[in-house]
Amino acid sequence: MNVHIIRDEHCPLAVYQNVFEKLSKSAGVIRFIKSKDDTLITDDTDDMFNEREREPINKYHFLSFSQLYDICENYRKKHSIDKNDHVFLLSGANNYQNWFSNMDHQRNNYFVQVTEWELFFGAETEVSFLLCYQVMAWLLKRNMFSSEKEVMDAVHHKPIGCMMDFCEEKKDITLKIRTADLCPKCLNIIKSKDVPLNFLNQVFSLWEEIRKNIAFRERAEFLNKMGRMIINPSKKILFFPDYGDIVVKLPPKEMTFYQLFISEPNGINMNSLIDHAKTLKDYYFIITGNDDIAATENIYSIHDNVPSQLLSRINRILVANLGKTLASYYTLEKTMNEPHKIRINREYVTLLP
Ligand SMILES: [Zn+2]
Repeated sequence: MNVHIIRDEHCPLAVYQNVFEKLSKSAGVIRFIKSKDDTLITDDTDDMFNEREREPINKYHFLSFSQLYDICENYRKKHSIDKNDHVFLLSGANNYQNWFSNMDHQRNNYFVQVTEWELFFGAETEVSFLLCYQVMAWLLKRNMFSSEKEVMDAVHHKPIGCMMDFCEEKKDITLKIRTADLCPKCLNIIKSKDVPLNFLNQVFSLWEEIRKNIAFRERAEFLNKMGRMIINPSKKILFFPDYGDIVVKLPPKEMTFYQLFISEPNGINMNSLIDHAKTLKDYYFIITGNDDIAATENIYSIHDNVPSQLLSRINRILVANLGKTLASYYTLEKTMNEPHKIRINREYVTLLP
């Protein structure tokens, strides 16, 4: 079962990549395929965040269901996608009906709105988990029902914490995703429709992960608990095992910069970055295998504002992945007359070679 994940221009690349990564990690019969329109941008370039600088999504941008499905349809035509394949659009646009997601039964096209989730789950939630839930839920519905009418006949108008909750009140979606489950009635439909077991396994195991992540995060925030961070410079990732195995990817320059600040618990004055030029260069070389003097010179060239851009990008990525409360241990911050530093107690940090 091939499932293409695509995005429109209002869906930030970082959101898209987070969703795709989580989906593609889930093992099973569903094969997730990356958008062919995004192949030019890989995680390994320093350019991947350039477009994040663009204007945020316009909240007044509305599309109809058919306009959203047309984006899927155009993608199919452009890349000659098989009609049995599924195409999922991650959209930054609102829709007139105010739905989070929907499916075009006839043509295997779907959309999921990537915005406004924080209104219901709070700014601390990592949206990509919620979007993954939606993707899996629609694929399951596609296997359970053969028409839109069948779907509508089976929905629960009173929320009971089942995938089929209709959520007329948008806020009811929190119950549905927190439980990430199916009621006995819906399980019976699955049984009667002979939905393949290996497909179900994939759906349920990803849901389990989503549920675990939401619970982990809420508890960690409640306890305001400092969690371990494992840094893998060569893979350019920060790994947070205590927060439900969150993986945060940084581009090479950001990773280099972050590693420098981790190695200096007392912090660094941004005006004296030049004193650390050699260390930056060494780190950058280890990460990229590239003895790129120009790139490292860029990092400490104060005049064109590069360090503060790197700093705000790193902080933004951390907040997007960890939520504001937990991220505050790991972000680069400056207080009063102190230099910039990362608050985390270094006993909690493991730096892999
Ligand atoms: Zn149900």
